[in-house]
Amino acid sequence: MKSSALHLPRLALPMLVVLLQAMPTWAATPVPESSSRSLGGIIEVMEDPSHDLTLEQARRSDTWRAHAETVFNKGYGRSAWWLRWSLDNPTGTKLDRILSIDYPLLRDLRLYTRTDGESDWQQRRLGAALPFAERPLDSRYFAVPLSWEPGETRHFYLRVHSDSSLQVPLTISDPTRFNRRNATENILHGIYLGSLLAIGAYNLLLFIAIRDRNYLYYVGVVFSIAMLIATINGYTFRYLWPEATNWNKQAIIVFFGLAVWCAAYFTRRFLRLWKYSRWMSNLAAIIGMCGLGMVALSGIISYYNAIMTLLVITFFAIIYAVFVAIYVWYRGQQAAIYYLLAWSFLLIGFLILVLSNGGFLPSNGLTRSAPMVGSFMEVLLLSFALAQRINIERQLRFAAQQEILDASKRHNRELELRVQERTAELENANHRLNEMSITDRLTGLKNRRYLEEALCREISRANRNELPLSVVMIDLDHFKSLNDTYGHQGGDICLEHVGHILSNSIRDPDIAARYGGEEFALVLTEADSRGALKVLHRVRQALEKTRIVHEGEELVFTLSSGVASRLPDTPLTKDEMIRQADQALYRAKRQGRNQVCVYHSALDGHTDLSAPT
Ligand code: GH3
Ligand code: MG
Ligand code: MG
Repeated sequence: MKSSALHLPRLALPMLVVLLQAMPTWAATPVPESSSRSLGGIIEVMEDPSHDLTLEQARRSDTWRAHAETVFNKGYGRSAWWLRWSLDNPTGTKLDRILSIDYPLLRDLRLYTRTDGESDWQQRRLGAALPFAERPLDSRYFAVPLSWEPGETRHFYLRVHSDSSLQVPLTISDPTRFNRRNATENILHGIYLGSLLAIGAYNLLLFIAIRDRNYLYYVGVVFSIAMLIATINGYTFRYLWPEATNWNKQAIIVFFGLAVWCAAYFTRRFLRLWKYSRWMSNLAAIIGMCGLGMVALSGIISYYNAIMTLLVITFFAIIYAVFVAIYVWYRGQQAAIYYLLAWSFLLIGFLILVLSNGGFLPSNGLTRSAPMVGSFMEVLLLSFALAQRINIERQLRFAAQQEILDASKRHNRELELRVQERTAELENANHRLNEMSITDRLTGLKNRRYLEEALCREISRANRNELPLSVVMIDLDHFKSLNDTYGHQGGDICLEHVGHILSNSIRDPDIAARYGGEEFALVLTEADSRGALKVLHRVRQALEKTRIVHEGEELVFTLSSGVASRLPDTPLTKDEMIRQADQALYRAKRQGRNQVCVYHSALDGHTDLSAPT
């Protein structure tokens, strides 16, 4: 145990020497056979903060250090960076390969390459600062074709300087592999951008049809995100503005700013923030205006400052959007939950992008496509949120309409009830009026108008059924002097008393009426003169039986009556019957009053029945 411990330093030293010799600072790696390979792990890097080193100065620098990660990713910064590596061809055949830098936003790339046999370095300028036509290969990436003779070693220096985020995903691939990878990526991006454009166009049409401004802002969000992603991935530069190198840089700020603006205004409108609080709504508008402000400033301030400002605005906007969406949802707006869900996809996607651009997450296919997946899900879910909101609104409107309908039904029912009540009241009043118009106030008997109408009816009934009918006229004797003696009040009492006796002396269909003054009339149905005499006898008995006392004095008076009867075979009119009864009454007066006379057409028809048997 002891000896091995002593031998260890003696063994370790030569091992270290061997290791150091076997690992030169710049070892060549074999060119990969036919696959595509990332060069991240085999490069050395060196920072050039002043960004004015020449190739020779860079080569001589002693600050080179190995880089172990797959992708060299420095995030946002101002330094220039040098990368170097070597690739050799250990095989016996010539190898054609494509070296590609897979980040389309890098502004200024200088690639220096030399084989062992060459003395001069070949320089190649690449980067987004050059027009597309100057690229050695037609690709959205910066790709250079290279070849290795059998056994040849090729050394590379790459100077990278960019105001975009500094990521240098280096790959070396066999040309077939390179083309296949490009085709796959183009198809995937094509599907993504095509879907977004279709959704955008469709919602634009919806806006034209519905005129809901939510759709307009939504379309703005969709298009600006689509353009932003297309520009970040180098497609707009490749297909839309291959010459406009400066605009290509500015376009990112413009579409980013527009996306912030549309998203903020969409949020404000979709969540109806003004309904909850004015400052909440104003803050959303301010965030939107900041985005728009960055669009306006995009041509003036530096790309680095603009992108940094936009990232800060977006950071606060995201926190704010999540906060208001939760708040509004808590306050009962159901559609806010879909908004929150949709937004969180985009947020997570962009968060991954920002974190990988900032160097906090590795930059690979997954992190680079996160914003695309996120924005695609967001766009889809927002579309759903819009539909859901319209759905909820329609339900609310329907409920409101139903409520109005119910209220109006209730109102109508109340109105109907009131109308019924009023009608009943009116009918009642009408009935009372009618009663009043046919009733004598003093005696409560029917009046003359009613009697004459009823008499007409009874005459036709008697005609139809061949029944007898009698009319009796009754007059109080010497009533004037009774009035003179006891006053009108005394007279009225007598009239009331007679009314009472008359109404109690007749059967139901018969009619007793006050004909006028101190004259009364009776219509006696189904009664001939004998029947009439019986009724008058009852009246007389009743009058004799009762004593009328007024102011301590007894009022005594008598009645005279005239009877006119019609038999079925001798039809008479109303006027004739009244006239005949009147004539009979006059005869009763003439013959000394306090008696009943029955009408006879001839004078011999006089009958004094003042004392009926
Ligand atoms: P006779 O019929 O027996 O010939 O004599 P009379 O005194 O009854 O005659 P007349 O028909 O001339 O008088 C009727 C009187 O009845 C006149 C009027 O003062 C009285 N009279 C009419 N209507 C009313 C009434 O409503 N109340 C009272 N108290 N008197 C009335
Ligand atoms: Mg009279
Ligand atoms: Mg009289």
